[in-house]
Parts: sequence; structure tokens; C-alpha cells
Amino acid sequence: MVEHYKSNPQGSASNSTSGPHQTLFFKAQSSHALLDNTLQEALKKAKGGFIEKRSKAIADVENFESYKQQAQLVKNHTLDHLAYYLTQFEDNLIKNGGQVHWASTPEQLNNIILHICERRDAKSVIKGKSMISEEANLNAALEAAGIDVTETDLGEYIIQLAKEPPSHIIVPAIHKTRQQVEALFRNAHDLGDRELDTIAALVDEARLQLRQKFLNADIGITGANMLIADTGSAMLVTNEGNGDLTATLPKAHIVTASIEKVVPDLESASAILRVLARSATGQPITSYTSLLSGPRGIEDLDGPEEFHVILLDNQRSQMLGTPFEEMLKCIKCGACLNHCPIYSAVGGHAYGWVYPGPMGSVLTPLMTGLKQSSDLPNASTFCGRCEEVCPMGIPLPELLRQLRNKEHEEHLTPRKTRISLQSFMWTIQHPKIFYWLTQITRKVLTNTTLSQFFAKYIFTSWYNSKELPKNNSKGTFMEQYKKSSKQKKT
Ligand code: SF4
Repeated sequence: MVEHYKSNPQGSASNSTSGPHQTLFFKAQSSHALLDNTLQEALKKAKGGFIEKRSKAIADVENFESYKQQAQLVKNHTLDHLAYYLTQFEDNLIKNGGQVHWASTPEQLNNIILHICERRDAKSVIKGKSMISEEANLNAALEAAGIDVTETDLGEYIIQLAKEPPSHIIVPAIHKTRQQVEALFRNAHDLGDRELDTIAALVDEARLQLRQKFLNADIGITGANMLIADTGSAMLVTNEGNGDLTATLPKAHIVTASIEKVVPDLESASAILRVLARSATGQPITSYTSLLSGPRGIEDLDGPEEFHVILLDNQRSQMLGTPFEEMLKCIKCGACLNHCPIYSAVGGHAYGWVYPGPMGSVLTPLMTGLKQSSDLPNASTFCGRCEEVCPMGIPLPELLRQLRNKEHEEHLTPRKTRISLQSFMWTIQHPKIFYWLTQITRKVLTNTTLSQFFAKYIFTSWYNSKELPKNNSKGTFMEQYKKSSKQKKT
């Protein structure tokens, strides 16, 4: 399997895509989100915290730019030698007693996990946070096979009870208010006389419910933030400690990770860790950084008997050697989401798939197909904030622009938009006509009756959400420019 990354830098992974094979209705979903007062309240509360904490964490170090450069160098180098490091990782993990599986598609990943569950006669699975399992919709596959599956990350646990997908890549339940979480717990748990009126009480309640699940689980599944090639280890970065319990208590542990997560060694991993927590949660380092390197040894007191790592491609090898290879540098810190004016206004669910915000607007079309997600490259104001805050220097606006071009080439842009853009292009290439049209437009806009008519009957959908400003200009820009040039000469 690893030959695939050696012999064909363009990649030739299966065309099978993951997740919901459906058109993602960003426009409709975002309109709905804007009218949802509870969601707006939750988003408002979350937004400021992330931005302030990140700024402070960055200000606290002498030269964050040099940290960023080191992390970017690690990723550039690894992507240039991806096959080599994946092979090294595989060899070393096997030496440690672990097993490596290769999955081209999310369906293959699910089948590998179902096969392990079947062989071990597993009835109960616990999960740490894993975006790869979200890509594969793994919970649904496990439940369909009659396996009880429980998310152990607090945010994931909440949205599992709510039967919703995550709305943020590091804070999956960011869209929920405390009151909503309390209602979910009241509905799902047998509370007795336990109170749920504070956040601390809610955390205690989740801990109580999860304790037994940890003890009874047959298999634990986690993600991995990085894979260390020269030790054959999976690195897990968490704040709750649930990842470690998921990895060590059940008799089998499965790590799900995508191929670009590999890095050469621990030093390289440290370079990425330095920018990851600061960009994500504004911490110098997260509470737990665990290295999982295989099954328990003969003298170990705990740990799983079986240790598996499943490496998922899911279109990533197709990005190698293309401008979209940049996306493989993403360390899923979430900074671009937290600083995006669109994400902050509509939240994650409007994006319709696993990855929201600017990084999702690039990744989703690449993974699920541009046709299904053609709204997403347009869900950007191009303010450039995402690129500015991205620790890996990913040129997100440029990648979105390239996807827009692709959309145009593949005739996926709505007919009305295409006609408007083509007409505009033609007009600006003919200055006399452009000049004449601007004069007419100004006259229309300065005439209240005419402008109201246009707003009401011609550009209805545009004006539905906007107010027509009063136009008192003394002429078009060109007219005023000519006039002032003449005055200067005389
Ligand atoms: S694109 Fe950059 S800022 Fe956004 S999640 Fe990835 S690494 Fe973080």
C-alpha cells in the first residue's frame, strides 16, 4: 500500500468519497443558523475567548513566527518524503508488536474496525475524539452492527446524546448552551437527586456516567494528533484525560489517523506541538500529551493486548503534488474557524460536513466532490484573517479562489451568477459602455421611485437582506474626477 505514495506523487486513491453523499446546502443552512437565537448566543460567548487566549499565548513567547517556521519546515519535509516516513512508521510499529492497516476510503476503515470487533466478539466500544472517525461516520457503522458505542470526550458525548455532528474541530459542542446540555442530561440519565445547575455539576455527571463505560468496554478507539515514524508511536494530545483511559483500559486499542499525520521523530513532533496548543486553545501545552507505542509488554501493569493503527487516505494522496497539497499541512488547530467572520456568524453545522470554517471550505469539496459542496468555496469574505492566523501558513483564501475557478470551469456556478459575471467582464472591457452605464445607474439610484422599483422587482433577493442607501452623489466617480482635473488645470 505504501508503494502508492512512492510511485505516484499525484496519487491514485480510490474515487470513493466519505460521509454524506449529498448536496450541502450551505446557503439555506446558514440562513437558518442566523435566525437561531440560542445558537447565536452560544457562538457569541465562545468567540471572544478563543481569540483572546490565542493572542495572549502568542504574546507570551518571544518569537512565535520562528515556531511557525519550524513547524512548517517539518511538514514540508515530511510531505516531500511521505512514503519513506509512512514505511518507517509501519516497520517500527510492527516491531513494537502493533498492527498497521491501510484504508483508501472511509468505508474500508469502517470495515477494518468492524472486522476487529467481530473477531474479538466486541459488544461495547468507547471512543476518544477522532475526526477521522467522523469522516467515516464510524458510530453509525458500529451501531448498525449492534455494537454499543460511547463517546468519552465531553463535547463529543454531549453531541452524541443530541444526535448531532460536531460543529467545531476542537470544541465539538460549541453550539450548545449550558441549559441545553442540562436538558440533554436530564433526558438521558437517571438523575436521582443529583443537581445539574452548574457547569462543574454537568462535568461531574458526565464523569459518573462514563466511568462504568470505561470499565466495561471491549475496545477503545482514539484518533492521533501525530504519528512518530522513528518510534512507531501515536501521539495523542488532550485536555480531559479520556483519551488515555480509552487507550489503556479496554483489551484492544484502535488508533484512526490520516496519512499526513506522520512526522519523522519526537523533535519534529515538538516543533508542531509548540504551535498547536497555542493556536488551538491558547495554552502553551495541553494537559495530556501521550505516546502510544504498541500493546502492553510482559512486565506492563496495564495497556491493551492488541494495538492497531488504521491509516486513512480518503483523497489525501490525490492532493499531493497539486496546489491543494498545502491542506495536508493542516494540524486541525481550529484557529482559522475561530477568526472567520462567516464561521462566527453561522457556526459549524451550516457547512454540512465534518470540517467547517475556512479549512472545511477547502477540504470538503476536495473530499466529497465540488459538485456536492459548490457553495463552500464562496462562503468567504476573503478578508485573509484565516491565512494570517494559520500556524502552518496555509494560503486558505488562494485555495478557495482556485476552487471557485474550478467551479466556473466545470459550470457549477449558478447560471444567473455566470451570466452576471460574464456581462460585467464584457462591460469593463468596453470603457465607453461602462462609463455610459454608470451614468444611467447613478441616475436610477438618485431617483427614489426608480431605485425602489429596482430593489423591489429586479434585484429582489439581494435587497431582501439589505437596505438601499440614499444616493446623493454629485456625479459618477469619472464625472467628478474629470471635473476636478479640469478645475486644477484652470
Ligand atoms: S488551516 Fe491552519 S488554522 Fe485552520 S485548522 Fe488547519 S492549521 Fe489550523
